[in-house]
Amino acid sequence: MTSIAIRLSRLHFPVTSLGPGHRIGIWVQGCSIRCPGCISMDTWNAGRGDTTVESVLNAMAGWLGEADGFTISGGEPFDQPDALLAFLHALRTRHSGDILVYSGYPLETLPLQRFAGLIDVIISDPFDAAAPQTLKLRGSDNQRLTALTPLGRDRFTALATERDNDRPQLDVVFDDLAGDAFLAGVPRRGDLLRLQRLLQNAGHLAGTTQDPRQP
Ligand code: SF4
Repeated sequence: MTSIAIRLSRLHFPVTSLGPGHRIGIWVQGCSIRCPGCISMDTWNAGRGDTTVESVLNAMAGWLGEADGFTISGGEPFDQPDALLAFLHALRTRHSGDILVYSGYPLETLPLQRFAGLIDVIISDPFDAAAPQTLKLRGSDNQRLTALTPLGRDRFTALATERDNDRPQLDVVFDDLAGDAFLAGVPRRGDLLRLQRLLQNAGHLAGTTQDPRQP
């Protein structure tokens, strides 16, 4: 089952800005939803990042002893439902931490019955750049945080609250091999473009992965 194909954008540990504790962040590659203003345009293309569930599990193995939970984002995890199912089954058998999955699909359209017991919390619905942004863990307030298990309720109830936009929480991650940096977490609206301008004004070559379209 773990030899099943999956498209992966990146892995990182520890991530502290996408759920409680020190988490393994898994960003899948490929998103067919394409919300205007999405900050992760680099994850849209489904034509790259090919690997297997087994390879992803092997790459994460050294982190499992220290991890409190997992955050699966993207990209759109439910665009790869078979791979997601195999991956979640494997996580559940290897670790007792909580599992948070992001999806841009409306909650009512997700095949949650098929994933019963495998996801503790889901943050659903497409990013809407015209909606306010006042809630923790979410890019826009139309996105719903739903606990699906007692563990999810236990770990995320305290996070289903208003965010402090004066102190956004982000992890800055450097990729030594590619020479890139990326931000894990949910930045404030416009922060990536502000950061890009700051770096460019300081003479750096800087681009962002934010979709320039506005609704
Ligand atoms: S916000 Fe999420 S669902 Fe929307 S386009 Fe970006 S990756 Fe896809």
